[in-house]
Amino acid sequence: MAQLQRLVVSPTQIAAEQIALTPAQQHYLGHVLRLRSGDRFIAMNGLGQSWLVALTTQAATAKILEAMQTQTELPISVTLLMALPKNGMDEVVRQVTELGIDQIVPILSDRSLLKPSPQKLDRWQRIAQEAAEQSERQMVPGVQAPQTWGEALQIWNTQHSICYICAERGMRSHLLSCLQALSAEEWSRGITIAIGCEGGWTEAEIERAIAVGYQPVSLGARILRAVTAPVVALSLVSAVLEENAPQISEPT
Ligand code: SAH
Repeated sequence: MAQLQRLVVSPTQIAAEQIALTPAQQHYLGHVLRLRSGDRFIAMNGLGQSWLVALTTQAATAKILEAMQTQTELPISVTLLMALPKNGMDEVVRQVTELGIDQIVPILSDRSLLKPSPQKLDRWQRIAQEAAEQSERQMVPGVQAPQTWGEALQIWNTQHSICYICAERGMRSHLLSCLQALSAEEWSRGITIAIGCEGGWTEAEIERAIAVGYQPVSLGARILRAVTAPVVALSLVSAVLEENAPQISEPT
């Protein structure tokens, strides 16, 4: 079953064990993937549920055969606050989705040069959806509208979750040792990680985050590119969380 195509459908398309396919989905399944009546694929609602389904003879609907039990999500919610890089936000969205992120918040920081258009946001949400399908996730991460640092810190602070800001200079604890020291109760609150853009965070931005409870952390002795840092941070989070968890795969 591992190779079945995954497709995100809206909850409103599902009724009485049937999924009404949109014209674009019908085209994709019938003409791009060349699926025929009876062929099976996996429909996911992007909110945690997925089903094994079969295309019906009309090809405009798919019949639900069974609910999928596979669980590929991280056990806690992880949010990335990403100061908008000039280049490479598409890659960041794709890669952190593969690594299990729950929510991506683009930040208009002091040194961000990019002011994204509304179309960019749609594009990032689409990339997140495709990456979630590809990575066999049950959830599609949400990409929020870009926010200023001040706005973001009012929501994503220690009232919300355990918060880290990655800072490449200064003697900081490594993110790995901070994560390994968290208690189960702290983990259950969820994690927020803030990463700067190419120019990094200003000292004032770092101080402002510390004032609302962020811990400044290091990702190692080398300076990483803005698009590399979130991948490293998310890899550490998922490794610590999943190190001892059994990996469950779908029945073949
Ligand atoms: N131009 C800046 C570097 C910015 S790196 C300079 O030379 O100072 C972009 C972002 O990646 C940083 O703001 C930080 O959030 C993250 N980052 C890169 N390397 C890091 C490291 N070794 N430790 C912690 N964060 C790092």
